[in-house]
Amino acid sequence: MFDLHLAEVAAFIRAKGARRVALQFPEGLKPQSLEVADEIERITGCICIILGDPCYGACDLSASYRSFADILVHFGHSNIPSMEVDDNVLFVEVRLDYDFTGLLQVMLDRLAPRVGLVTTVQHLHQLDMLKEWLERNGRTVLIGRGDGRIKNAGQVLGCNVTAASGIKDDVDQFLYLGSGDFHPLAVSLATRKPVIVLDPMMQEIRDVEQLKDKILRQRHGAITLASDAQSFGVIISSKPGQQRKALAEALKAKIIGEGRKAFLIVMDNVSPDQLLAFQVDAFVSTACPRLAIDDYLRYRKPMLTPIELEVALGLSDWDDYVFDSFLG
Ligand code: SF4
Repeated sequence: MFDLHLAEVAAFIRAKGARRVALQFPEGLKPQSLEVADEIERITGCICIILGDPCYGACDLSASYRSFADILVHFGHSNIPSMEVDDNVLFVEVRLDYDFTGLLQVMLDRLAPRVGLVTTVQHLHQLDMLKEWLERNGRTVLIGRGDGRIKNAGQVLGCNVTAASGIKDDVDQFLYLGSGDFHPLAVSLATRKPVIVLDPMMQEIRDVEQLKDKILRQRHGAITLASDAQSFGVIISSKPGQQRKALAEALKAKIIGEGRKAFLIVMDNVSPDQLLAFQVDAFVSTACPRLAIDDYLRYRKPMLTPIELEVALGLSDWDDYVFDSFLG
């Protein structure tokens, strides 16, 4: 189903003369980690150490690998160009090869004349084929280039859809190739254009409008609850690609400026259980934007993004609402 490029990994290990190799996998690839470690040890003679903590993106690169390994191999994500990384780290992008040709004809009727294409790293290799097919079928297709946080043309992250927003005025609609709803929702909110999802894993075509309304209602509810909060915990992530200390300090100043209390809290993995100890009325997360949106129901107190905090404090308008983003 997917290629983990172990020959390339072995070549990197040999070139670096590494003896101990740290291996980092996103949750979806962890089941393969034992087999991968076994195979790398067999072909290179090195010792592999699997990092067992959760990993959600290239932003979550292990900062501590040097204390137990010579090099780090990070599977599943492309690097974030604007994030500083030492040259003993190898990123291994992983592609998924689900066949979606059976969905193309069904999808065509739902597409406008000018379409912007976006996807995640797992499907980047299928983007050109999809573009050519759409052009053969009468559509004008654009693939945008994101900012410094984005490595590949057409690629979006949950925290960065600049590959879409950069071309929004030249297309009527976006087509997202991939799974999940967070990325297309972020595209929809950032561009205010209709978004169709071509999901090769679920083998379905869907649009995100209904889901968008549901999420917006949830977010409006969280903002309303937090608008009366007298104390806020402002969360700063210790993950290298999620750390926004200056933003957190600016938010604390705004909260205090509105006559409320604010506390800065640094965390690596944010979970409802870890937050229980902090007796504040609401939280604001400057970490991954997905925290507040995806895990909404798991938190006992309202969890806002920085943009939502501004609305809750009456400093900006709900009508301009977009998801939080990390620009590169
Ligand atoms: S901050 Fe969140 S959305 Fe952005 S790359 Fe990291 S895990 Fe993905």
